[in-house]
Amino acid sequence: MQGNPVIVWLRRDLRLVDQAAFFAAAARGPVIPVFVLDDERAGARKPGGASRWWLHHSLEALAADLARHNSRLILRRGDCVEHLCQIAEETGAHEVHALRHYEPWWRDATSALADKLDLVLHDGNYLLPPGSLTTASGGAYKIYTPFAKAARQHLPQRDPLPAPNLTPHERWPASDNLTAWGLRPARSDWASGLREMWQAGSHAAQERLAVFLHKAEAYEDQRNLPGVDGTSRLSPHLHWGEISPGQVWAALERVRGCGADTFRGELLWRDYAQNVILQFPDYSEASYRDGFGSDFWRRPDLDGGVETDLTAWQQGRTGYPIVDAGMRELWHTGWMHNRVRMITASFLVKHLLIDWRVGERWFWDTLVDADYANNGVNWQWVAGSGVDANMFTRIMAPLSQSEKFDAAAYIRQWVPELANLDDAAIHDPPPLLRPSGYPDMLVSHREGRERALQAYRAMKADICV
Ligand SMILES: Cc1cc2nc3c(=O)[nH]c(=O)nc-3n(C[C@H](O)[C@H](O)[C@H](O)COP(=O)(O)OP(=O)(O)OC[C@H]3O[C@@H](n4cnc5c(N)ncnc54)[C@H](O)[C@@H]3O)c2cc1C
Repeated sequence: MQGNPVIVWLRRDLRLVDQAAFFAAAARGPVIPVFVLDDERAGARKPGGASRWWLHHSLEALAADLARHNSRLILRRGDCVEHLCQIAEETGAHEVHALRHYEPWWRDATSALADKLDLVLHDGNYLLPPGSLTTASGGAYKIYTPFAKAARQHLPQRDPLPAPNLTPHERWPASDNLTAWGLRPARSDWASGLREMWQAGSHAAQERLAVFLHKAEAYEDQRNLPGVDGTSRLSPHLHWGEISPGQVWAALERVRGCGADTFRGELLWRDYAQNVILQFPDYSEASYRDGFGSDFWRRPDLDGGVETDLTAWQQGRTGYPIVDAGMRELWHTGWMHNRVRMITASFLVKHLLIDWRVGERWFWDTLVDADYANNGVNWQWVAGSGVDANMFTRIMAPLSQSEKFDAAAYIRQWVPELANLDDAAIHDPPPLLRPSGYPDMLVSHREGRERALQAYRAMKADICV
């Protein structure tokens, strides 16, 4: 005779190892793992197309892992609170265990569920529980550098947890069919590039980590070079919780040199971003500095050409080779190199003077690692509108960035029209060498820069009046 089962409610924590909810639940009774696709939840950001594709494959991988542990993944679609209550009633489950998540809609859902069922929350998707670090005066950190410095003093917190010992359950509740959810593209198959580059799931994440550990020593020197595969590409795996940052941090102990240390600093950006959305839940929707509201940017209803410029940016046809390479890499693979994310984002908000929130939404839809906190924090950092941000007036020059970070091979890969140009010409092809199919620049660097600075000066003058 089995005791009452325990539900593990899964969201972006699709792994068995170092998953504190699974670990604790397994010690309490037979476990029923449940994932509810609650994509119509009020106030929630519906996952974008690339995220849905990833989610399909990640759930498939987790279900296969669970089957190896004589368990199952129960899938439901709709209101998560209603489904979890229904499953608890059907099965006699007396507790729900889950990891904490900090997107505002998950915090609302968690409180609603806690009113109805015995909900036990655990930490583990971040290096430190977001909100647990405070400044000397007891406030929350707003700026990355002091946050990261303080965080390092508390890390690592503990060793990663092993896989849970799951007792097979006897009576499984009904589950949806994953394929019927239609998370993968239905009409045109835009996902072939995603399939070439990615494999979702914990095992693939561990393999990617193992590959990265061999080159982690060189991370410091290579991480800014888009033409070199020098970063970990763990971001979608971390976003979906297929691997925990604690596992990554522990594995880095085996790596020497400043590469590992710089990499730890990047993982801390991820923690920092959660810390920001915990303080400012609408951070990915609203500028946090005066003057950067809708009036600051060029507006499609008032300024001609905004829609055309936006489409050219989205399609990688701006006439700036590095920008176009990045935007095409994003469309094809669902991922973009960090240096190029900065260049393309800066180009949109400064050279084209288009609201950062428009760019944030495009990334949200097209990135496999689209993350409410990381995306919003980075866009506001680039735009100069956030609590910790680059100055708006510091305007990146895409053409010199392209040269400085040696992007010739990268451009050849993603903008084949330019593949025959030599290294000297490819970053900024002179008119005579510009192939006929490749567009002219939407705006020159000088004009774009001047327009952005003028808008900034006008905004400052308005604020001071
Ligand atoms: C405009 C813009 C938008 C971005 N949107 C996202 C997003 O939606 N999701 C996302 O995960 N990252 C985002 N980033 C951050 C960063 O570009 C990616 O995390 C990184 O490129 C992923 O590649 P990687 O795994 O090889 O990174 P690595 O260099 O190997 O870094 C390791 C891990 O650290 C974390 N990390 C690295 N840089 C950052 C950063 N700046 N902020 C937060 N975490 C970081 C990621 O989890 C990453 O997987 C954005 C950056 C910019 C400039």
